[in-house]
Amino acid sequence: MSAPDCIFCKIIRGEIPSRKVFEDKDIFAFHDINPLAPVHFMIIPKQHVASLADCDASHEGILGRILAAAPRLAREQGSTDGFRVIINAGRVGRQEVYHLHVHVIGGPDVLGPMLKRN
Ligand code: AMP
Ligand code: ZN
Repeated sequence: MSAPDCIFCKIIRGEIPSRKVFEDKDIFAFHDINPLAPVHFMIIPKQHVASLADCDASHEGILGRILAAAPRLAREQGSTDGFRVIINAGRVGRQEVYHLHVHVIGGPDVLGPMLKRN
C-alpha cells in the first residue's frame, strides 16, 4: 500500500524526482540526496512500511529481498570492495523519513568509524 503524504512513496510514484538506481516489483533504490560517501543510495520497499521498528516476521520476505539486492547494486555503483548498510529506526535511531529505507554506503576508500562514542 502507498501512503499519500509519504515522501518516499511519492518518489516511488514519480511525484518527486529521484536518481533511480534500481526498481523491480517489490523494491526501489535511489541515490541519497545528501550523500555521506561517494556511493550512497537507499533501498526501500514499494509497499509503505514506516520503520524497521514496526517490522515483524511478516516482513521477512521484503527485508530479505532488500538485503539480497544490496551487494550487486553496491558493486554496480562502484563499491567493489565492501560497503556499509545502515538502517535508522525510530527516535533513538534518529530515523528522519518514516518509510523504511536501507542505506548502502561505500566507495573506493575505507569509511570512517561506524558511530562516534557519546
Ligand atoms: P534517515 O531517516 O535518518 O535514515 O535519513 C533519511 C535520508 O533520506 C537522509 O539521508 C536524506 O538525505 C535522505 N532524503 C531525504 N529526502 C530525500 C529525497 N527527496 N531524495 C533522496 N534522498 C532523500
Ligand atoms: Zn511511504
